[in-house]
Amino acid sequence: MPNKVLIIGAGGVANVVAQKCAQNSEVFGELLIASRTESKAKTIAERIKNIPVSTAKVDADKSQEVAALIKDFQPKIVLNIALPYQDLAIMDACLATGTNYLDTANYEPKEIAHFEYSWQWAYQERFKKAGILALLGSGFDPGMTNVYTAYAKKHYFDKIDTLDIIDCNNGDHGKAFATNFNPEINIREITQNGRFYKNGEWKEIPPLSIRQDISYPEVATRGSYVLFHEELESLVKHFPEIEQARFWMTFGDEYIKHLTVLKNVGMTRIDPVKFKGTDIVPLEFLKALLPEPSSLGENYSGKTCIGCQLTGTKKNANGTKDANGAIHEKQTYFVYNVCDHAECYKEVQGQAIAYTTGVPAMLGASMVLTGKWSGAGVFNMEQFDPDPFMAEIGKWGLAWKEIFGDEARLVN
Ligand code: NDP
Repeated sequence: MPNKVLIIGAGGVANVVAQKCAQNSEVFGELLIASRTESKAKTIAERIKNIPVSTAKVDADKSQEVAALIKDFQPKIVLNIALPYQDLAIMDACLATGTNYLDTANYEPKEIAHFEYSWQWAYQERFKKAGILALLGSGFDPGMTNVYTAYAKKHYFDKIDTLDIIDCNNGDHGKAFATNFNPEINIREITQNGRFYKNGEWKEIPPLSIRQDISYPEVATRGSYVLFHEELESLVKHFPEIEQARFWMTFGDEYIKHLTVLKNVGMTRIDPVKFKGTDIVPLEFLKALLPEPSSLGENYSGKTCIGCQLTGTKKNANGTKDANGAIHEKQTYFVYNVCDHAECYKEVQGQAIAYTTGVPAMLGASMVLTGKWSGAGVFNMEQFDPDPFMAEIGKWGLAWKEIFGDEARLVN
């Protein structure tokens, strides 16, 4: 029986989530899209013809406003596709109404550019007691990358030694400078110190200070930089055997040049400054000047390639000894998706970053609604069986491929 679902937010990612839910009409029967600016929700709703969709205005920073919407609409799950700032307020509303929750990015307080899972993991007991489920980080990275890692562990590794998540956007949107998802969240993430995990400790490095050329299959060889990404935190928690975990992302020279200048002149600051007697947060002002991520799709060309490289060991299937006398075989494995910006635009009038985030958000919700993933409490994606997710994700637009052995070693 198709379900009612509340989507909060009406930006680039929400546009994809809503349309993908409508495509999966066996599971999603009716949508309410609620956001700060209702006109944007209406634009998305108008693209959907096959299931009922309504819209509403909500300030999701206000838990009671969200709870009132939930009481009125009675959804089976709330998809938080607004911003990380709203995570806790929406989780509170879900607790107050006994409703399942899903998001694509972990909580970050507005006044500190710092994100980590502790704030949301702290809801574990309350969600458990209420008998409801929170699925955290159901986008691509985090999200698909967590499922890829769980799939690799389940099928190909007894022990994972290293994990390198690599994220390449080899697209061109034709603008001098723009961010592919919310500019505020994106710039806060990239201008902070980088971090990676090694032998039980987090190593902190200056922003964009570790670089390597990586050859992304089917796409390009691109300079890639180590930065901290939230799925590293949950993956080393749930696979504690991992000795080293890093996250790499491509940035073009033009992007870095613009970002460096903006940072040097103070435009990426998140503390208020007085301007003509008014408090202005420079990064919020900058966001108002930059293109909306949802507007980038039309002339976007090129592809993304995002995947996970893992090394580790697997028991030799025959139980025979290898050259060193060990019965474990060394494994290198790479699993990835390639997504084309122009194809995404043709299908849902959005670009590939929004698409690769929105499809796993829909499928994560579908896993919960169909009971393929079930339980009470707060969960990261890798805590569930990856197989049903991996079996379906290709059908919804994010086909995956895998490579083994020396060819799978893309990062050193
Ligand atoms: P956008 O800026 O395009 O959209 C955000 C939407 O949230 C806007 O419609 C905005 O409203 C709405 N919103 C903001 N604050 C509130 C509020 N207080 N109440 C109600 N609505 C609000 O961002 P994206 O679509 O690019 O990103 C959405 C989310 O996806 C972000 O959390 C981002 O971090 C995450 N993301 C996750 C990825 C992953 O792979 N896991 C990758 C990319 C993004 P308004 O229109 O009025 O501004």
